[in-house]
Amino acid sequence: MNSTKLNILAALLFLSISVHGQCYLRELPTDEATDLVNGNEERSSGNIQIDQWIQFELNPILQIFNLNSKFFFYDDGDNPNALATCDCNSSGSCDGIVKFGKNLLYQETYSYNGGRDAVIGVLAHEFAHILQCKRQWFDRDKKKELHADFMAGYILGQKANFQFTNIASFANTLFQLGSDSFSDEASHGNPEERVRYMTLGSYYRSLNANDAYDVGKRWLEGTIGNYNIYGDWQSTSGNKFRVFNQSGNTYYQSLITGITTSAAQIEQNVFRALFYQMNQFGQPARDMYGNLIIIDQIDLVVVDSRKIIASSRQGTSVWTRL
Ligand SMILES: [Zn+2]
Repeated sequence: MNSTKLNILAALLFLSISVHGQCYLRELPTDEATDLVNGNEERSSGNIQIDQWIQFELNPILQIFNLNSKFFFYDDGDNPNALATCDCNSSGSCDGIVKFGKNLLYQETYSYNGGRDAVIGVLAHEFAHILQCKRQWFDRDKKKELHADFMAGYILGQKANFQFTNIASFANTLFQLGSDSFSDEASHGNPEERVRYMTLGSYYRSLNANDAYDVGKRWLEGTIGNYNIYGDWQSTSGNKFRVFNQSGNTYYQSLITGITTSAAQIEQNVFRALFYQMNQFGQPARDMYGNLIIIDQIDLVVVDSRKIIASSRQGTSVWTRL
């Protein structure tokens, strides 16, 4: 299990807990948000290095979401928080405004390794709300929050240091963090739900933002569909694969190289294939404890009946049904 992704997601969760009583991603009523935006906007966090880092992280999010948004710091006092508003008001024409509390920023930036990733996750969540504004989704409900978590996972999934893990280890981290203290489950979802949607979003990291947005919505509406992975596929690079069922597991075999793999379903429409090291007899090799040696893994996201997106550490490719 790789700890990097766990750190990121654990950091996001920790962040939610650490500001107990204050929904860190709350959306204010328009007049309240407007007051904040008009009266309390700052272009600098007060630390030029942090400013530069935020700018560095902000640019790809704005680019991926294709947003013309404004971003400010503000003094969040004893209520560490960040907020998004669709209303540009006196700030001119834009898709919306995100404001990040300086105390929240300092608290997380200097907390521990995962804190910086939590900041990026919060930024992505907030800008996802601006994307929702742009796409005319104005209700304020749990679905919208979980959708923003989905899009935050989608952004985090694209970061170079983001690695695969599984949902079970994630849940363990949650329990260690004491998930009962979540303050705003009714509006934001419970920890398990939030983790689920962040994780789901990360699986769809290879889609363009508009498609990911729609897929996220379909997940929340329960209309995602349940697609079949079995059959023959061809990747963009011309490799052919056959996926077939055997002994209760899904086995997946390269038709060209004959690498032995197995794939387990880890989520509806999401499979994880493991590649095993082979011995000189062409059988899967085992370590001194008798365990199969895994040399790579690949996430297979079945987008529809004819398309799979395969993501590994080496990159992604699209498979189409033969
Ligand atoms: Zn939110």
